[in-house]
Amino acid sequence: MIRSWTKTAAACVMSRTGLDRLVGSLSGAKGVPLVIGYHRVVEDFASSAETSIPSMLVSRQMLERHLDWIGRRFRFVSLDEVGARLEGRDGREDPVAAITFDDGYRDFYDHALPLLQRKGIPSAVFVVTDLVGTRRIQIHDRLYLLLTRQFRPSSGAPTPFQTTRALLETLRQAEIEKVIQKLELEVPISEDTFRPFYSLTWEMLEEICRAGVTIGSHTRTHVLMTNESRQRVMEEVSGSRQEIEGRLGTGVQHFAYPSGLFNTAAVDAVAAAGYRFGYTTCTHHDAGFPLLTVPRNLLWENSCLDSHGLFSESILSCQIHRAFDLVSGCRQLHATSQESANGRL
Ligand SMILES: [Zn+2]
Ligand SMILES: [Zn+2]
Repeated sequence: MIRSWTKTAAACVMSRTGLDRLVGSLSGAKGVPLVIGYHRVVEDFASSAETSIPSMLVSRQMLERHLDWIGRRFRFVSLDEVGARLEGRDGREDPVAAITFDDGYRDFYDHALPLLQRKGIPSAVFVVTDLVGTRRIQIHDRLYLLLTRQFRPSSGAPTPFQTTRALLETLRQAEIEKVIQKLELEVPISEDTFRPFYSLTWEMLEEICRAGVTIGSHTRTHVLMTNESRQRVMEEVSGSRQEIEGRLGTGVQHFAYPSGLFNTAAVDAVAAAGYRFGYTTCTHHDAGFPLLTVPRNLLWENSCLDSHGLFSESILSCQIHRAFDLVSGCRQLHATSQESANGRL
């Protein structure tokens, strides 16, 4: 994480001099359509951040600011149009941007969709199919909620967010479920607390699909693909695609890797399941399937604030052009351990 005053100063200089776009092109973004990713869209950031991982939230007001800025510089397109551009089928070169939302939270329907429709902006939602229409909430939200309830601040101790991330990135999902069950015995959480985290229902998805929103897959259970067996990964990617296609009667071409985590085995599974486009959160391209590793920029409430806590167009410009990637790059290896051993990255 770059300290905020450094970020503000760097952003001002880079934006004024056009260096943000130059650095963006150096870090591999040139010629690639801009694809933005958000998670939850809420009415009030501060109150939602009391129970939710803050970096998964954007307020409706901040989302509108981002969209207005992007809309003055890019033409908003659907993911199918992004696909056409990537495959060289649209014959145009103007800057285009697509807006996506991960995890399939119900607040997309309540807060994001009315705003997007009012502005005529196409969008896409990547759903976690096993949670659609249920009262179960995302595994990362459950874990974070439980850890915040137990957390006693002490110097040097990892925060609930750091602990959540460390557990998610190291353990298999079945092991995380065991950790959650133990924590739930110690600090039970009421049903009301879960409500803001609910996923969309199939009826809502039918409606938003009819309204032109692209429905993509984000696996069945938000499994982190780099931690699981090949068979489990395959079940997750093909099972979720079949479920959406069966329920909505529409083809599913787009897939987003949960938490942006992928390796070559994950990319191979996404290819085998028949997806045409896969979205990551960094600029690493798989050599065999570049269209299954399309980079996205993830934004949230505070990603474009300056050192005074105010929205900064310069910082948004730097985020869009990935100017900060040079200093805080990707931590992933992206190759399976077998390939690393063979020296094939
Ligand atoms: Zn996700
Ligand atoms: Zn990466």
